[in-house]
Amino acid sequence: PFNTDKGQHILKNPGIVNAIIQKSAIKSTDTVLEVGPGTGNLTVKLLEQAKKVIACEIDPRMIAELNKRVMGTHLHNKLEIRPGDVMKADEWPYFDVSVANLPYQISSPFVFRLLLQRPLPRYAVLMFQKEFADRLTAKPGDKEYSRLSVNVQLLAKVEHLMKVKRTEFRPPPQVDSAVVRIEPKNPPPNICYPEWEGMLRLAFLRKNKTLSSIFHQKQIIELLKQNYEAIAKAQNKKIPADLDMKEHIENTLNESELGGKRARHMSIEDFLKLLLAFNKNGIHFH
Ligand code: SAM
Repeated sequence: PFNTDKGQHILKNPGIVNAIIQKSAIKSTDTVLEVGPGTGNLTVKLLEQAKKVIACEIDPRMIAELNKRVMGTHLHNKLEIRPGDVMKADEWPYFDVSVANLPYQISSPFVFRLLLQRPLPRYAVLMFQKEFADRLTAKPGDKEYSRLSVNVQLLAKVEHLMKVKRTEFRPPPQVDSAVVRIEPKNPPPNICYPEWEGMLRLAFLRKNKTLSSIFHQKQIIELLKQNYEAIAKAQNKKIPADLDMKEHIENTLNESELGGKRARHMSIEDFLKLLLAFNKNGIHFH
């Protein structure tokens, strides 16, 4: 009856459902966004706590099941079901908190769209594949520390809540899971994201190499030179005739005192400091 292509793995242990509900600390005034209610194990408990639950579900059979479960109960009028693919919805409704046992295929796009949602939700409590959860919560120096860790932790405080074994689901998926709490920083940091993203891509090209050696590469120097010239031109500024981009980048790295660092050991603050140093010297990544 379950379609694993749609990530249909139903939580069968009520103890875990209860633990997720308890960690979610829903207030009676909250509107909750749930993605993939499935047969409604989490949904009914959320409905007992929240003012309203908006449940987005792609599978009409699951919607029918969920409707049958709440029909005729006092929870019925607090539930709004939105049929369809949550990632294809043009706009998301207002919500205070999101709680979901997500289909794993949409983990990354869901998290980034959550962080772009306005007004920002207070937090989200989400079940992910364990490996993905490890990358979200990884700290500098951890094996799983990656661009994903840095991008999400720039915008949110992330916290590992609990591990959930694959055997707790029906049918069991191939991998274990983990529940993570994501609390958006509000207000979000005031930086230019395309710049940030462009710089991170370069820094993580080889996350075990020092920044100096990455920014020593010909193609990268050439790319940054083109950006430099394009921006100077757009701003009607003269490009110094003796501009040596390689040297200019080296000097900037020296000023920032980060040239000897490797992306895998750099904190969010290090990356912010690096971007600031580059931008101050007219070096741009976008
Ligand atoms: N919440 C239930 C539970 O914990 O037992 C079921 C969770 S199951 C991991 C994921 C659910 O998401 C399935 O019911 C699936 O049909 C639904 N789903 C999959 N892709 C979706 C999408 N793009 N948009 C909305 N729902 C989706």
